[in-house]
Amino acid sequence: GSQAKESNVDVLIIGAGPTGFMLAVWFSRLGINARIIDKSSDKVQAGQADGLHPRMMEIIDSFGFVHRPLTECTIGFEACYYEPDANGQLHKVDRRAEGIPGISRYNGSVIHQGRIEQWFIDAIDGFSKGTMKVERPILPDSLDIDESRIHDQTAYPVTVKVRKLAEQDAHPEQYGHRVQNGLHRQFGGEEDNRTAAADDSAYETIHAKYVLGTDGAHSWVRKQLGIVPVGETTDHVWGVLDIVPITDFPDIRKRCSIHSASEGSMMVIPREGVVVRFYIQLKGDVEYQEQPGTANSSVPAARRIDRSKITADMILERAQRIMAPYTLEPAETLWFTGYQIGQRVAPTFHKHERVFIAGDACHTHSPKAGQGMNVSMMDAHNLAWKIAHVVRGRARPSILSTYESERLQVANDLIAYDTKLSRLFSAPPGTISTDEFRKVIEQGMAFSTGCPIDYDASLLVSKPNRKTSDETFTSSLATRLFVGQRIPDHRMGGQCEGRPWWLHERLPSTGAWRILNFCGDFQSHDTLKQNVRDVGEYFVSADSFVKRYTPKETRFDSVVDNILIHACDNWAVEWNDVPEAWRPKDHRGVVDYWKVFGDMDNLQGNLNPPTNEGRTTGIYDKFGIDKDVGALVVVRPDGHVAKVTRADMEGVKELEGWFGAFMVPAN
Ligand code: FAD
Repeated sequence: GSQAKESNVDVLIIGAGPTGFMLAVWFSRLGINARIIDKSSDKVQAGQADGLHPRMMEIIDSFGFVHRPLTECTIGFEACYYEPDANGQLHKVDRRAEGIPGISRYNGSVIHQGRIEQWFIDAIDGFSKGTMKVERPILPDSLDIDESRIHDQTAYPVTVKVRKLAEQDAHPEQYGHRVQNGLHRQFGGEEDNRTAAADDSAYETIHAKYVLGTDGAHSWVRKQLGIVPVGETTDHVWGVLDIVPITDFPDIRKRCSIHSASEGSMMVIPREGVVVRFYIQLKGDVEYQEQPGTANSSVPAARRIDRSKITADMILERAQRIMAPYTLEPAETLWFTGYQIGQRVAPTFHKHERVFIAGDACHTHSPKAGQGMNVSMMDAHNLAWKIAHVVRGRARPSILSTYESERLQVANDLIAYDTKLSRLFSAPPGTISTDEFRKVIEQGMAFSTGCPIDYDASLLVSKPNRKTSDETFTSSLATRLFVGQRIPDHRMGGQCEGRPWWLHERLPSTGAWRILNFCGDFQSHDTLKQNVRDVGEYFVSADSFVKRYTPKETRFDSVVDNILIHACDNWAVEWNDVPEAWRPKDHRGVVDYWKVFGDMDNLQGNLNPPTNEGRTTGIYDKFGIDKDVGALVVVRPDGHVAKVTRADMEGVKELEGWFGAFMVPAN
């Protein structure tokens, strides 16, 4: 036979679920040398997660394919609460806007996971010009880290041996049901004896600089690192059912939370087309079976439910009883699953900052908050650009520690919220007041949008360390902008053309940092006029730190993108009055016109608001920036506010030192 293959790669992603795809979309866009493998021969076809929270919609927009969820998803606008009256009769007690109106341009949107994965596959295909494909069905056999080389950035210290599986062995065995479901055994564990494809070429030894384990709740990578998730298993058993319903329930196309007098609770999630998903508490419907625990499972043996006994009919019957007197019949049953809730978080998300885990590999919890896939993909969104910075030599590896510090906090917050919610949903009927129930859901509403996620002080977030997990920080220069949170979206006026823009439209996920110079109303203040000139001159000078970090062969704005947002009357500002730094030219001398914006309050002309979205205040007001003072706002490549400082040379010098702590000069 021939020799087994051997190769080098900068980044190896193990697991092509939503988390792996989020990493891959970044790496494909940034041109990182990365591969993605999966043991399964197919992507998810039906069921599983289905909710995209508003922040995820913003992120999808930042990668340029938000038109797909906008046209294909069911978008949530209203939510209803049903509770029993004094006679135990179910009735509607509240009807409200879904989510937090105004927190994002996007609403929560739902569609099955397989479709979401397809959008990512298409985007990755586009960005990589067809060169980055999920390699399937490939199973890793071993993972070794050469500790002697972990500090050498030119080395490939992680070795993963993989084998390509024979096609017939690359499907999970589904328990015997006719309907597609999520009740299958895991495969590819330690005792795996599946055959490799016939010849030697099925085996490969991959040497990688970084290995990212996005291989789900039963993560093989996590086990190789010896990381054991911490947490507890509950008795709460949940059924999930995707059907096309026939019903007289009046709010079937709204998100509903139904709390019955004696039959339990459920959630109604209207889905794409006429599909509806039900999340239902199954306590009492399933028996706890004596089952042997497996070596790596933290579910104690005797407390496990026998998932193979769960049927679609069983879940449906429970739903009918909770919903009574309304009727519910399936015209079609698409998918179902059942699971026992375990709330666990891995105590660490990496080994030697060379192998990282993300997504379900780091945290598992109930599906009720609709956060699993979102928080998982957000882990990847946080990690990918940092890895890319280090692999490309733009930043020091020390930035990588912020991945765990930022995402572990989010995972812990998520579990805390989920614990509260799960107890409420699974509490015996009659023991929880309906007020309490609604209060917890409302408190969690903002968190569930993904928008207020707030990273603590670090190398990449300039603010004081916080004392409590919900303590926010704003600079006195931008009193409504939370440092550590994603920068909120807002309207601003394009200077070159008088067109209104959304700020986020100018912040696509390209891996660039942004310095937003809120230079104020410089036409009314000589100091501000001098400041914007000085700052502009600095950025075009040879000494500029932006130039220092930008490789000669790349675009001027590929590492740090300078954007000017003034507060002058846009008709009083002439294009040629704008300092050159914000009218940059490419190698042909063609100007990039989209670096200069004005506050919407001062946007004159035919396109002056009200626009379709109605009239809003200007961006200075929205962010709490004084038009007579201004501010420099640094936005990270993932959209989080990193730092706020003065819009003058003192501020610029401060930024120079700040970037200098982790960035690496280019040429
Ligand atoms: P996953 O989506 O699990 O992806 C992991 C990927 O890694 C898979 O493609 C897998 O084939 C691959 N893989 C695993 N092991 C290896 C290995 N050793 N080598 C190579 N590849 C490997 N969430 C909800 O919100 N609602 C639900 O109803 C719901 N139902 C679910 C039902 C099932 C059966 C499952 C598995 C998950 C469900 N989830 C649900 C959770 C949701 O799907 C996850 O939170 C989300 O997919 C997390 O994404 P991930 O990429 O981290 O992990």
